[in-house]
Amino acid sequence: MLFRRTLTTLFALAAAAAQAQGTWPTKPITLVVPFAAGGPTDVVARTLGASMSKTLGQTVVVENKLGAGGTVAANYVAKAAPDGYTFFIHHNGMATSPALYRKLSFDPMNDFEFVSQAVEVPMTLLARKDFPASNMQELTAYLKANKDKVNLATAGLGAVSQLCGMMFQRAIGVNLTEVPFQGTAPAMNALLGGQVDLLCDQTTQTIPQIKAGNVKFYGVTTRNRIKVLPAAPTLHEQGLKDFEVVVWHGIYAPKGTPKPIVDRMNAAVRTALKDPDVVKRMDDLGAEIVPDSKMSSDALRVWLKAEIDRWGPVIRASGKFAD
Ligand code: ASP
Repeated sequence: MLFRRTLTTLFALAAAAAQAQGTWPTKPITLVVPFAAGGPTDVVARTLGASMSKTLGQTVVVENKLGAGGTVAANYVAKAAPDGYTFFIHHNGMATSPALYRKLSFDPMNDFEFVSQAVEVPMTLLARKDFPASNMQELTAYLKANKDKVNLATAGLGAVSQLCGMMFQRAIGVNLTEVPFQGTAPAMNALLGGQVDLLCDQTTQTIPQIKAGNVKFYGVTTRNRIKVLPAAPTLHEQGLKDFEVVVWHGIYAPKGTPKPIVDRMNAAVRTALKDPDVVKRMDDLGAEIVPDSKMSSDALRVWLKAEIDRWGPVIRASGKFAD
């Protein structure tokens, strides 16, 4: 009897789910961003979200859930209802968090459905405008002589600004004071206001400030120079051998989100990544749309696993982690 009732309930649930998938989406979809509004991840989310809203016929609403280098948002999405109305955009932090946090309340590989990768973004190393170093050579010399006086803004442990800053400190052999913000939008404001000294951040936020001459700019973190700032040297070519940090953004859903919904979201992401308005905006901000081969659920899963394996040892060797 009990068995029969359970079976009936299961059939009813399955039927409801099938119907929901057929008409999905019937209300706005939330895209959770783990950092502050106006920052680099937020810019990518809002650009994609606007385009996806057209394809899906429902508004994609960006919700900024802040804290702990992106892990508050990841944990929130991991525990959200898998009903097709909550999605998540994140970056390398999804891969670095397991090594950075001894107690992580979510599992990047097992608590999510994988939708697609989206764009890859270079980073830029900046200082406040009146910082007393005009090029990489001067910067290195100044930091070595004044390491106790200089601070570095980050978006917390799990942020790429922290990862890039940590790699930079290691490369030149200094240990600076890190000042965490809830995203690099507020970190950039502090840099522009002269309250912090250094910031490593994605071009999706920094290009306008670099072009306006509002910051000191020392180079890009990609292995090769980038199209949008062709005169800017890489850190690698300035003596930081093999220095490379590229930010990649992936889109996820809570584990258990029905596959037909994940597939339709994947199709909407692919359409957005080919939308001329999105392509132009990303191009202007130095972000590269990933090739078609990276726009699948499986490709994101494989990529994330490889990134966890890649960054884990680097982070453990740095000795930086949170309890
Ligand atoms: N750029 C930030 C980071 O360092 C995140 C953001 O504000 O988008 O991870």
